[in-house]
Amino acid sequence: MNLAPLRESVRGELRDDDSILATYNRDASRLKARPLGVFWPLDTTDVHSVVHWARERSIPLVPRGAGTGLAGGSVGQGLIVDTARLTQIEIQEDNLLAIVGAGVINTHLQDALKPYRLFWPPDPSSHRISSSEET
Ligand SMILES: Cc1cc2nc3c(=O)[nH]c(=O)nc-3n(C[C@H](O)[C@H](O)[C@H](O)COP(=O)(O)OP(=O)(O)OC[C@H]3O[C@@H](n4cnc5c(N)ncnc54)[C@H](O)[C@@H]3O)c2cc1C
Repeated sequence: MNLAPLRESVRGELRDDDSILATYNRDASRLKARPLGVFWPLDTTDVHSVVHWARERSIPLVPRGAGTGLAGGSVGQGLIVDTARLTQIEIQEDNLLAIVGAGVINTHLQDALKPYRLFWPPDPSSHRISSSEET
């Protein structure tokens, strides 16, 4: 798969070397699949670009947070979109609203909320290593 056109249209890192494919061919489940490559978007513009690129070529995208899921959901033969660099946290105290990047680690959001005496209810025992979404 030629990833060059995508590489030229995004700011985030894109890799398809053997070492990274071997690292990303599994998550915390026992399931394995060799992906096409791994992309780390830096912002929502990058996410838009990769979705557009993949849709035009009918290439599956596999979102990946921290890879701690136990059902193999972040494992796949398509292009892995690793959210690890989408880590912004904005808290609007008056609206009781947190706007967070898709890769924010649960415990980091919890720590950011403490000064406001607020609490992020999803609380998996993997909170120190998993990102904000729950499976
Ligand atoms: C030691 C340990 C303890 C655990 N304890 C718990 C627990 O107490 N409760 C619990 O519910 N789970 C637990 N889990 C499972 C897992 O940690 C949680 O489900 C966690 O929420 C997964 O987060 P992650 O960032 O690792 O997601 P990943 O494993 O990377 O992804 C999980 C799924 O979400 C999808 N996904 C990821 N990011 C996005 C995105 N931005 N947009 C759309 N889809 C996305 C992936 O494609 C995949 O299907 C545990 C796991 C381990 C290893």
